[in-house]
Amino acid sequence: MRDPWSRPDPLIVERATELRDSVDLDTATAIIVSEGRLLASAGRLVELPPEEHPAASLRIYLGREVDRDLVAIVPSDPSFAEGYDGIGGERLVGLRDLLQPFTGHGPEGMRDRELGATAVALEAWHASHRYCARCGAETEPAKAGWVRRCPADGREHYPRVDPAIIVAITDAEDRLLLAHAAHWSPKRFSILAGYVEPGETFEQAVHREVREEAGISLTEVTYAGSQPWPFPASVMVGFTARTTADTLHIDGEEITEARLVSREEIVALVADGELVLAPHGSIARRLIESWFGGPLADRVPDERIDV
Ligand SMILES: [Zn+2]
Repeated sequence: MRDPWSRPDPLIVERATELRDSVDLDTATAIIVSEGRLLASAGRLVELPPEEHPAASLRIYLGREVDRDLVAIVPSDPSFAEGYDGIGGERLVGLRDLLQPFTGHGPEGMRDRELGATAVALEAWHASHRYCARCGAETEPAKAGWVRRCPADGREHYPRVDPAIIVAITDAEDRLLLAHAAHWSPKRFSILAGYVEPGETFEQAVHREVREEAGISLTEVTYAGSQPWPFPASVMVGFTARTTADTLHIDGEEITEARLVSREEIVALVADGELVLAPHGSIARRLIESWFGGPLADRVPDERIDV
């Protein structure tokens, strides 16, 4: 299955970063983002022409598509988008809903996920970075939503992205390591992941996290793609790796259970409802299915991920 987010290709929508100082957002086509949710209909983002823009508390320039500009608007009235609920099929959906298979993995779906991820990530960043980290003064959006500027000291603050690694580990029998995190629903298992710390490479973060969480060492740590994961501000950097260890030593706190599973076992566990995998569209799912050699059917469709 094609991963809708982990793409080596250029962005679908040209960000036109050189226009951020000059673009006229009043004439742009708008999508709506409100408290991490997006206005959508039938799995596609709803687009509003300039005359239908709501009053905005924040506007973010998303880029240029053919001959028009695109803007993400955070309505100043939080109930604006809720007014669409039940009317003509439009409704506010979480970004994860745009990941689900029913929305399609074609070019339109990828474009919408790209725009949606950008809008959701930047809305969250603005909401949590209202004050200058240097002097504490209230900052103001600038550069069409891509900067916050401090009026007291002139400092510019840029959106942050927190890298996290995720790794599909196989053993000498080509079994896959799956682990259960303490805060997940009971039967969810996935591959190991964790944040990159200052001073280490992505690969070193892989080695460290796996040693901390599963007590094993790795070889053949190999990059396998990345995926924006704005919940609230990550990019997942995917790897595969091998281990020769035959005993797991889980930390018992962050990870409470881990097992090595064969392809036959994973099919049986998922079919029995004993194992709930990461949702379609996540890089975790892609790495698991890449190891498996094809799509894995869910017992419970549209299962959401816990993050
Ligand atoms: Zn300041």
